[in-house]
Amino acid sequence: MEIRKNFEHLYELIAQYAVEFGRRAQDIRLLAVSKTKPVETIEAALACGQRAFGENYLQEALPKITALTGRGLEWHFIGRIQSNKTRDIAEHFDWVQTVAREKIAQRLNDQRPVHMPPLNVCIQVNVDEEPQKAGALPEGVTTLAGAIAAMPRLRLRGLMAIPEASNDFETQRRSARLLRECFEALQAQGYSLDTLSIGMSDDLRAAIAEGSTMVRIGTALFGARG
Ligand SMILES: *Cc1c(COP(=O)(O)O)cnc(C)c1O
Repeated sequence: MEIRKNFEHLYELIAQYAVEFGRRAQDIRLLAVSKTKPVETIEAALACGQRAFGENYLQEALPKITALTGRGLEWHFIGRIQSNKTRDIAEHFDWVQTVAREKIAQRLNDQRPVHMPPLNVCIQVNVDEEPQKAGALPEGVTTLAGAIAAMPRLRLRGLMAIPEASNDFETQRRSARLLRECFEALQAQGYSLDTLSIGMSDDLRAAIAEGSTMVRIGTALFGARG
């Protein structure tokens, strides 16, 4: 019941922000971030029509993916990628949003099973250039995009960022704008991209203001994580 209300509220917010910033709500996809939440919670979200789910931790995600096989879910890996985990990611996920190095992209490409469609990939960009944070630096994005575009088992869909935490709308918006600028630069170079993955529970409005096409929401749907 609670989860259904949370979905309804979130759809209302997305629709409201889309109107505010002259966008169409149907151009903004919702990724439900189910990390730390059990299979029952994912099933409750499925019952609300949600199909795309994001997970950060491989050892936690694999049993959930197995338990829900055949139910039409779309799984996005959104956590840090260790190179010894790329095979499991390539074999079990539909999307990987956190590719930040060519070496990791190459491993995912080489390990993607031939019977599966190409793995959808977003480059994670460290927009605020935080030293502790994963992600390609903005000036490295073009080179990495070129390398990924040449990998036949990967399909480059766009860019993703986890901005510096801030409660200030203009600060949030500045981070989102930096990602949008990287995105538009790639498009100007001829890349056909459709995914600008930015916006979490606390910066949804700023992300939509700057053109997000995929918001990744955990807390606002499923409550705080333990
Ligand atoms: C946890 C997480 C989210 C969801 O964050 P909330 O604030 O709970 O909505 C989105 N993206 C990534 C990469 C995450 O790790």
